[in-house]
Amino acid sequence: MKEKYTKAYADKLDAVDVLRDFRNEFYLNNECVYMDGNSLGLMSKRAEQSVYGLLASWKEHGIDGWTTGEQPWYYLSESLGDNMAGLVGAKNKEVVVTGSTTVNLHQLVSTFYQPEGKRTKILADTLNFPSDIYALKAQLALQGYDDTHLVQVPSEDGHILDEQTIINAMTEEVALIVLPSVLYRSGQILDMEKLTKAAHERGIKIGFDLCHSVGAIPHQLHDWNVDFAFWCTYKHLNAGPGSVAALYVNEKHFGISPGLAGWFSSDKEKQFDMEHTLMPAEDAGAFQIGTPHVLSAAPLIGALDLFQEAGIEKIREKSLQLTAYMMDLVEYELKEFGFVICNPKNEKQRGGHIYLEHPEAARICKALKWKNVIPDFRKPSGIRLAPVALYNSFADVYDCVQRLKNIMVEKWYEQFSNEREVVS
Ligand SMILES: *Cc1c(COP(=O)(O)O)cnc(C)c1O
Repeated sequence: MKEKYTKAYADKLDAVDVLRDFRNEFYLNNECVYMDGNSLGLMSKRAEQSVYGLLASWKEHGIDGWTTGEQPWYYLSESLGDNMAGLVGAKNKEVVVTGSTTVNLHQLVSTFYQPEGKRTKILADTLNFPSDIYALKAQLALQGYDDTHLVQVPSEDGHILDEQTIINAMTEEVALIVLPSVLYRSGQILDMEKLTKAAHERGIKIGFDLCHSVGAIPHQLHDWNVDFAFWCTYKHLNAGPGSVAALYVNEKHFGISPGLAGWFSSDKEKQFDMEHTLMPAEDAGAFQIGTPHVLSAAPLIGALDLFQEAGIEKIREKSLQLTAYMMDLVEYELKEFGFVICNPKNEKQRGGHIYLEHPEAARICKALKWKNVIPDFRKPSGIRLAPVALYNSFADVYDCVQRLKNIMVEKWYEQFSNEREVVS
């Protein structure tokens, strides 16, 4: 056996991994190989501490916690936005932590979708996450348009989108484009810079859903001139179930009124004047609606610390090594078992997870959980495996593939039904 496929080789890679100490910052179950950080990142000790800190500020200050204490709640959405701006390549005032992914999408589309004359359509794709598509259809309906006004770019193989096909669909009828940065199944990275340039040359505004890229790959939203973006914080950012999401609006749009207004859209100095005419904030803060979900933003304070310490470039470098290593092992160990690697293999297009297809995927995933590997299953036949740079090791990748191989060799998956669970 080539050295490359031994456990000793995995240990060697771990020994020279510059991010290896970050693993100690997280709560890991030693029995278990966690490969689902692209659905729900693990809890870090710092995220836990920041939740306790926030609870203490409530206990101690009562209502004065809005303006006093270590993290005055009134400014928390903006200060967390500042801390996150580097991860997406934005200026500080272009990012605010608020709402949820889907609510932020509604907010941004209701602001930036302004149908006029022949330009009435929204351009999206056929592979995006369903919530985004539901929101876009609902926004069209609010303006009196039916679903034919949503143009969804097809994929030839069901996994990958061709950027030129997307650009060809940017016609004079399109008013707005919303696309994912990284596809949630195949993990394909779309070329945001190229797509933004092409959209703007045709007079179309464009925004991206960064749920599967933030915390995994670097972005340059401001330099690419992207109009808007939005993302969750519970996947690669590890801020916990239901943690508060974020959005970005390019500074050239500052001053525009939010489609969905509320008193937290206000200029913060004027908010408590309690006037009935809204004076929106002069930055991304204008796209907040009501009182921030402070307790659900708290874990982000600690979670983001780790990203600032590690640096997104180093995270991306290790992530690429982990996924390359995983693909090597899958090809070597599993070739006779019918798995197909459906994520892009090249580094430019490969996101933070590996996507395998297999006709028995649902029950293979159940067998993996039974063997203490946490994957996730995507209907009808997809297995996503996300080795996360901050807390997964090369030995984790090795163990994951070995256990998967055992399941196939021993046919352990046959004892489970090939149906998905309620939450998968
Ligand atoms: C995870 C995810 C969502 C989830 O939206 P929520 O409002 O946080 O439930 C939406 N879009 C994409 C692309 C996702 O990956």
